[in-house]
Amino acid sequence: MELKVLGSSSSGNCYILDNGNEALIIEAGIRFMEVKKALDFQLRKVVGCLITHQHNDHAKYIKNMVDTGFYVLALPEVLTAKGVSGSRVRSLELGKGYKFGNFKVAPFAACHDVPCVGYLIDHPASGRILFLTDSCMCEYTFPGLNHILIECNYSDRKLIESINAGITLPIQRTRLLTSHMELETCKGILSANDISNVSNVVLLHLSKDNGDEPRFISEVQRATGKLVYIAKPGLTIQLDRL
Ligand SMILES: [Zn+2]
Ligand SMILES: [Zn+2]
Repeated sequence: MELKVLGSSSSGNCYILDNGNEALIIEAGIRFMEVKKALDFQLRKVVGCLITHQHNDHAKYIKNMVDTGFYVLALPEVLTAKGVSGSRVRSLELGKGYKFGNFKVAPFAACHDVPCVGYLIDHPASGRILFLTDSCMCEYTFPGLNHILIECNYSDRKLIESINAGITLPIQRTRLLTSHMELETCKGILSANDISNVSNVVLLHLSKDNGDEPRFISEVQRATGKLVYIAKPGLTIQLDRL
């Protein structure tokens, strides 16, 4: 199973899981033409599109997904905010499971400044993938994970440096505490879960001003002993079941 990252930041998020026959799109925050290119214009293999929440960096192009005829799963708040409806639009209910081709999808509540979900995604080719972004914490642990895609937006140390340098406004620190994931929280979630069968850890949605790529990679690598990537446009990695 190939993971293609089209975008992973406040300027736009979109990921594609593609095993050659079936593709699942996660997030609609990147121009639709880019999505079509990444799919080599093979739109027929798209089995669905998952949205986490209504912010434009995740849902700006949801209407393109619906108009193209993709099955779209999103919280009712997202569908209302973006004014989308139709027979292929599924209004997400927490506690329910969903099927898109051979992908099984279980949403769970995230912790953001608007209603937001994370997804547990199972496919025979990849095993179990955890996807969690725009969440200040995670209330749950998940058994049997094979790959983890998780936000690591900022570190408090880098944030304070940025505030002292006048790059980031002090009020941002309060906002971030309840909306985005800090490095130590990310590491805490990784150590709270059984990651013995995890092959890849992909860090999502790094802040341009308050993130620190090399440090995040080395700290998470040290904490987990796993291969750690930073999601950025153009990154392609294999998420296979070992
Ligand atoms: Zn975001
Ligand atoms: Zn957001």
